[in-house]
Amino acid sequence: MPIQILPPQVAGQIAAGEVVERPANVVKELIENSLDAGAQEIRVEVQEGGRRLIRVTDDGHGIPREELPLALHRHATSKLQTAEDLGRIRTYGFRGEALHSIAAVSHLVLSSRHRDAETGFQVRAEGGAPTEPRPVGMPVGTVVSVEHLFFNVPARRKFLRRPATEAGHITAIVQRYALAHPHRRFILLHDGRPTFQSTGSGRRWDVLVAIYGLENAQQMVPLQQEDPQEEPLPGPGQPPRVYGYVSLPTLTRASRTHIDLFVNRRYVEDRSLTHAVVQAYHTWLPVGRFPVAALFVDLDPGEVDVNVHPRKTEIRLREGRRVFGAVQKAVRRALLHHTPIPGLAVGSETPAPAPPSDPPPPALERDERRLWGRRRRALLQAGQGIHRRQAPPAQPSPASESGTEAVPDPPNAGRTPEAGEAEGLPPLRVVGQVAGMYIVAEGPAGLYLIDQHAAHERILYERLMAQRASGQVARQGLLEPLVLHMGHVETGLIAEHLETLNALGFEIETFGEDAFRVRAVPAILAHQDPARTLEEILQGLAQERNRVDEALEASLVRTICKRAAIKAGQILSDIEMVELVRQLESCRSPRTCPHGRPTMLRLSAQELERAFGRT
Ligand code: ADP
Ligand code: MG
Repeated sequence: MPIQILPPQVAGQIAAGEVVERPANVVKELIENSLDAGAQEIRVEVQEGGRRLIRVTDDGHGIPREELPLALHRHATSKLQTAEDLGRIRTYGFRGEALHSIAAVSHLVLSSRHRDAETGFQVRAEGGAPTEPRPVGMPVGTVVSVEHLFFNVPARRKFLRRPATEAGHITAIVQRYALAHPHRRFILLHDGRPTFQSTGSGRRWDVLVAIYGLENAQQMVPLQQEDPQEEPLPGPGQPPRVYGYVSLPTLTRASRTHIDLFVNRRYVEDRSLTHAVVQAYHTWLPVGRFPVAALFVDLDPGEVDVNVHPRKTEIRLREGRRVFGAVQKAVRRALLHHTPIPGLAVGSETPAPAPPSDPPPPALERDERRLWGRRRRALLQAGQGIHRRQAPPAQPSPASESGTEAVPDPPNAGRTPEAGEAEGLPPLRVVGQVAGMYIVAEGPAGLYLIDQHAAHERILYERLMAQRASGQVARQGLLEPLVLHMGHVETGLIAEHLETLNALGFEIETFGEDAFRVRAVPAILAHQDPARTLEEILQGLAQERNRVDEALEASLVRTICKRAAIKAGQILSDIEMVELVRQLESCRSPRTCPHGRPTMLRLSAQELERAFGRT
């Protein structure tokens, strides 16, 4: 093909792709425009997760009639004039391409009444040039309606998730702006139902309560620096301000996604700053747990480059290190202030610090010990009803088994398998436990080291899969239904996979837009914390977005079993070990865990002999 300049429509669609990937991006751009226009109230209406309709209504200063068609023009903006202006951006917008891009991939109607005008005017763009403005009656402000998003981009449409998931992303966006602007009122409606609202009281904590619920918000503490509210950003030479809220170590999540960062009141995704927050909790959080935070950094706009990507969630900081340090210190100070760490005051002259108003989290050790007790009991219960299995009948093993199960390669690869070994395990005699991790057992062919966690995972996996196949997964009802406020995105994900989860023994239902209710869990999880388990499952779901159903289900089962299985480091009694080995013997594929790692290693009698120089 010869080189050609693309027709404007095609070029527009390509450019749009950078700004608009999903409905939530549209909502973001429209809210930013409303904020830039000084709106006090911003109303966001969404239908079918934004696919059918996104409408943002504000009471900002509006757009004069003669500028209306220009607003839809590419690189048309009222916020920037010279290249130098790029170095001191104080508005959200500046690229002048959001409306243009959105109009290129939707049916867009822009109505606005300027504050000095008697009436409003409306223009339409349906994937092309805007129409002539025509008068409409409306209050001062602007309404942008975006219908049939991606109507002309089937590829994008195909990648949209279910409405509930897209709606979740939209809610997350609205909530972030509400956090950044507690003085403004935000209202969000999904399919006509109000799903989020902030009061505009000016108190940031009120917004936290609206987002996370009172119980969670009460576990969040303000940073020491006073909230500057709507004060202007620092000027050149002035130090950065760090303020906002962070969770006490009692409130954690399984991923970093609840650490919301704002630089100059713009929500940003910045790994380094996120890391600064996490680091401030050093040693206060268990491995794999992360805090919740709404953290703001205000600094001289000359210190930040937001013109990195059209979506403007990436930034570059001129003095990244300094900001990193400021964030880390601010979070650490707030935590120290609110959660005194018990020190070793032995023989010290200084009086012990006054008792904290909030009791510190219970000593981990005691908790752990209690858990151990519970897990052991669980293991014993799980073992009930399984009887000693006779040596495996001499049947040919199913092809799939020998084909797919990786038999761990013992040091003497190439040996001939012992009788009966191909289909199952030889009967094993438990000798003891080493390192709190491995069971030592003896069999006809030598010494076996069994990884207790991997082995238990295998046992649970086969049990759960068998129950699933017969459609009868054993459930354990919770004494009281548990309502989990995990956020909109997460609730969307749960909603998307509700059927699968319930088929696996959960009994879950959505509970509003940002929460779900758990009534029962798979019986094998009876002794685990359901909230933690579901968080892990959610993480898995988020990562496995593109898997097909069956693979996804198997992966869910693996997650559940991993959670339910006894852990490394757990001391087992003789009875527990014997029981575990017996259950493993009755598995179809006892040699690998569901993730494909070996459950056991063998040292053959011959090898021992050779090693001792007997042969
Ligand atoms: P940018 O925000 O980068 O300037 P946009 O394409 O988002 O580019 O908007 C183009 C212009 O339209 C803005 O510069 C602004 O003048 C005007 N505009 C858009 N939305 C609004 C609104 N809600 N209220 C007032 N003016 C608006
Ligand atoms: Mg804009």
